[in-house]
Amino acid sequence: MTSYGVSIIGMGYVGLCTAVGFASKACKVAAYDIDHEKLALINRGIAPFYEPGLEKMLKKTVDEHYLICLLELEDAILKTDITFIAVGTPSKPDGSIDLSQVEEAVVRIGDTLRKKNKHHLIVVKSTVIPGTTENMVKPLLEKYSGKNCGKDFGLCMNPEFLREGSAIYDTLHPDRIVIGEHDKKSGDALELFYRSFYGEEAPPIIRTNLSTAELIKYANNTFLATKISFINTVANICEKIPGADVKTVAGAIGLDKRIGPLFLNAGLGYGGYCLPKDLKALIAFSKRLGYDPVLLKAVEDVNEAQPNKVVEIARVLLGGLKDKKVAILGLAFKPNTDDIRGAVSVKIIKRLLEEKAKVVAYDPSATDNARKIFRGEIDFAASVADCLKDTDCCIIVTEWEEFKNLQPEDFIERMRNPLVIDGRRIFKPELFEDRLKFAAIGLGQPRKTDL
Ligand code: NAD
Repeated sequence: MTSYGVSIIGMGYVGLCTAVGFASKACKVAAYDIDHEKLALINRGIAPFYEPGLEKMLKKTVDEHYLICLLELEDAILKTDITFIAVGTPSKPDGSIDLSQVEEAVVRIGDTLRKKNKHHLIVVKSTVIPGTTENMVKPLLEKYSGKNCGKDFGLCMNPEFLREGSAIYDTLHPDRIVIGEHDKKSGDALELFYRSFYGEEAPPIIRTNLSTAELIKYANNTFLATKISFINTVANICEKIPGADVKTVAGAIGLDKRIGPLFLNAGLGYGGYCLPKDLKALIAFSKRLGYDPVLLKAVEDVNEAQPNKVVEIARVLLGGLKDKKVAILGLAFKPNTDDIRGAVSVKIIKRLLEEKAKVVAYDPSATDNARKIFRGEIDFAASVADCLKDTDCCIIVTEWEEFKNLQPEDFIERMRNPLVIDGRRIFKPELFEDRLKFAAIGLGQPRKTDL
């Protein structure tokens, strides 16, 4: 009998939130990451990033010894029966997937399996391009362990669908679990783990082969990206039609059960660690297979152009941006996270700086991460009120709850020149447009029309 239930390799957003979720329901988790500073923080109950509810649950699971970080990967493997790999899979400069973190982890896991005389199940949770588990992970594990996959150790691909901002909730209440299996015994073992973990609340479990599981993750994320670029396309058309409003269009089409209301918020486009890189990786992969995925390329093109729109609107309404003071509300790629990987705020700020505007930004939790990118180039405010002070324009970049309650007076009282550009459609135009200069994505101009 081993001391722990499962081991998780990679303590990023996915690995740590999964570890804490598992540990919160009395599943003993041994965790490992090459970043030992991160491990030390976690072992003290301190979350290395912001995620709602994470720190409290982390502290509890660490205090109760359900979660422990081990400094040696070998210990984590030898003390457990199942190992989840949750390391990063970033983009290479050409957009294709960089599998070096997976490769490094798998080689070390293989080395350790050589010393183990019990069956062990390896589960790839990282997002990897179809064929990776079969053609890279399996041969490396066999080579470095000297053992046979399917006989001496098991192998599954189990894509992760959690959303940053609600990662703990998603871990405990997934919509479905996808198990790609190398062989039936491996799939049975992972299904048994999840069924005993979730009990009667187990979501639908889909069992399939390794490549299909890998593709499901990409299809999922690229579909979400497509929905966003679709509604942004409609928003861009709305802007050319006097009186049209994309929010009303989205609300109406969202009631069609075949469409659904989610991911139909027009705005500045998607960002974050996953959607942009997964779309790029699937495009590069498809091209390698000899298929040109024109739809996916269009989704990407729309998304690339979208953040520039607010800069253009500001330039036109301010008569140029040089020396204009622009307030940016929101830096995180979405609310309830401090993650700014792939955030549109970064693109927008870079464009504003190129245009010689002066930028001051406020975010409830992502300021420290943004500071590392814009050292000394922009100012950071400690509150919305500070951020707006004496500015010529305010751009809403992230739809934090805190911003949704702002009233026209909040801007009028503090700004030098009250111009609000709502990049996330959080304000009711009719409340703002008579009080100050107001523009928003997906609002046809002129606004008042007899049509
Ligand atoms: P991350 O970059 O936040 O974390 C990766 C972690 O792995 C880091 O802590 C890093 O130090 C560690 N690591 C790197 N190489 C290692 C090695 N050889 N051994 C041990 N640890 C190593 O990444 P993330 O956001 O947690 O994403 C992980 C995977 O899950 C990616 O494939 C991603 O596409 C996928 N995913 C992410 C999300 C999300 O919302 N972030 C959601 C679903 C799926």
